[in-house]
Amino acid sequence: MRVVFGPGRLAELGAEVERLGLRWVLVLGTPEQEATLRATADGLDGRAAGVFPEARQHVPAAVAAAAADRARELGADGCVAVGGGSSVGLGKAVALRHGLPVVAVPTTYAGSEMTPIWGLTEDGEKRTGRDRAVLPRTVVYDPELTRSLPVGLSVTSGLNAVAHAVEALWAPDGTPITALMAEEGARSLLAALPAIVEQPDDIDARSGALQGAWLCGAVLGATTMSLHHKLCHVLGGSFDLPHAETHAVVLPHVVAHNGPSAPAAVAALGRALGVAADPETVAKALADRARELGAPTSLAAIGMPRDGLALVVERVLAQPYANPAPVTRASLTALLEGCFAGE
Ligand code: NAD
Repeated sequence: MRVVFGPGRLAELGAEVERLGLRWVLVLGTPEQEATLRATADGLDGRAAGVFPEARQHVPAAVAAAAADRARELGADGCVAVGGGSSVGLGKAVALRHGLPVVAVPTTYAGSEMTPIWGLTEDGEKRTGRDRAVLPRTVVYDPELTRSLPVGLSVTSGLNAVAHAVEALWAPDGTPITALMAEEGARSLLAALPAIVEQPDDIDARSGALQGAWLCGAVLGATTMSLHHKLCHVLGGSFDLPHAETHAVVLPHVVAHNGPSAPAAVAALGRALGVAADPETVAKALADRARELGAPTSLAAIGMPRDGLALVVERVLAQPYANPAPVTRASLTALLEGCFAGE
């Protein structure tokens, strides 16, 4: 795909849309970002067919169908998705249905813009799949747009991105290239987040974090994710927990579990965090860093019901997936108990 990166480069969006041969695009995003969507549409020099500000987390199938219908009614020949993973996910859903090309303008660190992975939620079940048709053709990363991302969400979204890097480091199909990208992505985000907490509109820190998110999203798209993503997917899908916060809570626990079976990943994370390459030290450093940044540290704090843990264990064990360390009922239950209590 083509990537345009830099402060102020949103101004080039119209030219990027034209470069793809698109003339009439639907601008998609969440209701909270409607003003940004309208400003983006206004900047498209007459190429905006309309604005659809109804994206929601986990892409409800009914919202995806409504967006696809709107695109068809308007005769749109493409979509511009502005926002976080929910907005990009909606663009992907329209691409899946009508094959319309997507241009992504990411405003969080979730990384969906770099992957061919789509998701749709219906009747409380989230289905995901991979399809080249949903991979955005062009991504415009403008760190200026992330200045308004609230500090709390900046932190959890950044840790969500770090989780992509961590699982890419122990992925069964990881390569020396993805390992380099993952380590640098994690390092870049972990360096930028404290500066963002200190000064949320620091454009250098925002640029560093977004560049880290780009790398982390790229390795998410290029490798197979393991226990951490599986667990967060089940937790989020079954109990509608907030996506980025769930990743932030769970990550140190999975690193503690998998670390002894993934020494190269632990070494890379040790370098990214500036601590010794020891599984326990790395897991603890991640937990300490998340706490210092103000991220939630327990599933209890983000709305998980205690009596739901057993269901999560069942659902995670029911579908096999790649993981460096064995996952047994006992070890998974202990891991989840730790996540629930934040210990
Ligand atoms: P999100 O897109 O749901 O955004 C969270 C909130 O932040 C929304 O209210 C949004 O309007 C607001 N927001 C976003 N950017 C903002 C900004 N710059 N300023 C002010 N407000 C802003 O959250 P997310 O964590 O980016 O995405 C989560 C979703 O993305 C989940 O559904 C997840 O499954 C999906 N996801 C998919 C992939 C993939 O590869 N398919 C990858 C990562 C995440």
